[in-house]
Amino acid sequence: MTRVISVISGKGGVGKTTIVSNLGIALAEMGIDITVIDCNLTTPNLGFHLGMPIFPKNLHDVLKGKEKISDVIYEHDSGLKIIPAGIGINDLKGIDPRRLSNALLGLYGVTDIVIIDAAAGLGREAMAAIENSDELLIVTNPELPAVLDAVKAYKIAENIGIKAFGVVLNRISGKKHELNEYEISNIIELPIVAKIREDENVRKSISAKIPIVKYKPYSKTSYEIRMLASKIVGKPFEFEIPWHKRFFGFFFD
Ligand code: ADP
Ligand code: MG
Repeated sequence: MTRVISVISGKGGVGKTTIVSNLGIALAEMGIDITVIDCNLTTPNLGFHLGMPIFPKNLHDVLKGKEKISDVIYEHDSGLKIIPAGIGINDLKGIDPRRLSNALLGLYGVTDIVIIDAAAGLGREAMAAIENSDELLIVTNPELPAVLDAVKAYKIAENIGIKAFGVVLNRISGKKHELNEYEISNIIELPIVAKIREDENVRKSISAKIPIVKYKPYSKTSYEIRMLASKIVGKPFEFEIPWHKRFFGFFFD
């Protein structure tokens, strides 16, 4: 059965696209048939994160009723499948986010997991993704405004019967002003399923258009993302570390 997971947040810029691109690759490398969809209809950038910015046909064409979803699936080097969104202003004309639910039917049975890179907030774009999900992964930074917005998004999803798998805490710097993980899980009342540090290699990897699980595969950040991938599919964590990395240490990449 195909599982549809939306990666959501209340606040923008917390790291959803970073998580989606890296989690997608981590799952693909585990042999899972995985498709990621860019549902940021107004400001898409999943293709940029994956080094695949331009596509002839995209999700916008599907939401205009011009293409079938099966005709806008592209493959990344890792084996990950991506359904990109159109990056042009003209792509926005005549789209109807309500067509998403019908479009997703075309992926049932075709792929094991669909991960939707949702828009931030609770507007039409974000709600189209949430309503069509089996479960949610909520991304937040360890700051009160981001956590409160995440709670709001989650509560609205919960009201329409969509459950969350857990919270990804991203950009932890360990500074005093930050909320700690206990405070956050108390506010949000969900388990924290991954803790990712503030890591300048994430920014470097985005600028290199190579997600960090490929750019720095043996880093602590990549390890956390692979652990999250294992939790999502309920499989034990297995990641082969080459001999020279064992000599120099696991997290010294
Ligand atoms: P969203 O999709 O939620 O808007 P992005 O994934 O685009 O967020 O991330 C926004 C920016 O935050 C990225 O361009 C990157 O520079 C930065 N970023 C994300 N995660 C981290 C991290 N763990 N460490 C450092 N910078 C990060
Ligand atoms: Mg994004």
